[in-house]
Amino acid sequence: MRLHWFSRAEDRLDAWVTRQHQELVLDGRTAPVGPCPDETFLEGVARQSKQIALSDPRVDHAANCPVCMRRLLELRSQHQSRRRRLVFTAAVSCCLLIVAAFAVVSWHGTNTPHSVDNMAAIPETIDLSNAGTLRGLPSYSAEPSPLQSVSLPAALVKVTIILPRFSRPGQYMVAVTHDQSVNDPLAHGAAAANGGGDREEVSVDLDLRKSQPGAYFLSTTHEQDQASYYYPLQIK
Ligand SMILES: [Zn+2]
Repeated sequence: MRLHWFSRAEDRLDAWVTRQHQELVLDGRTAPVGPCPDETFLEGVARQSKQIALSDPRVDHAANCPVCMRRLLELRSQHQSRRRRLVFTAAVSCCLLIVAAFAVVSWHGTNTPHSVDNMAAIPETIDLSNAGTLRGLPSYSAEPSPLQSVSLPAALVKVTIILPRFSRPGQYMVAVTHDQSVNDPLAHGAAAANGGGDREEVSVDLDLRKSQPGAYFLSTTHEQDQASYYYPLQIK
């Protein structure tokens, strides 16, 4: 912290000394030695080119000659504005790249469902109308669910879920999960429930082609409900 302040203070001191010296030179109160170097040389100094040795007598001249100093200041401000433009251009290109990447991603995003639609999804119906649910994260010692038979093939399936009686209408998120959490689901989809009365059903496409056979959970989450309902599920 203190070191940082120190270096900032030193920078300020350097800048002040430089300014004092510049004023002295521009006022013509210094005595330059030798003739004025050519424009190319001054440009090199302004760009802080590594090819110019600080021991070069022309550097000493330029640092003490009002004509060369004025030209150096002009060249340096041109160089800096060119660099600023370059940085700006680079920043703009970077933004454009990001925008392009997002466009590609969202293009894929909007097109993926079409390719899913084009493939033959296997229709499956899961009847949860009388299901006992495992809500949230209860212990496994909870009452065994009567839904031992719920299973889905490891394929692209169009699942129609008959929701438990008295389920609310609205948008539902359906997911196949490893455990009783919707983080990192194997597959998921969202759709509005339709039906009415005491029977609501929701249909979603679930891509289970990459799933290993085994025991999973099917979860349903109502859009206005933070809790998810979990049903034991077998993938065959
Ligand atoms: Zn000069």
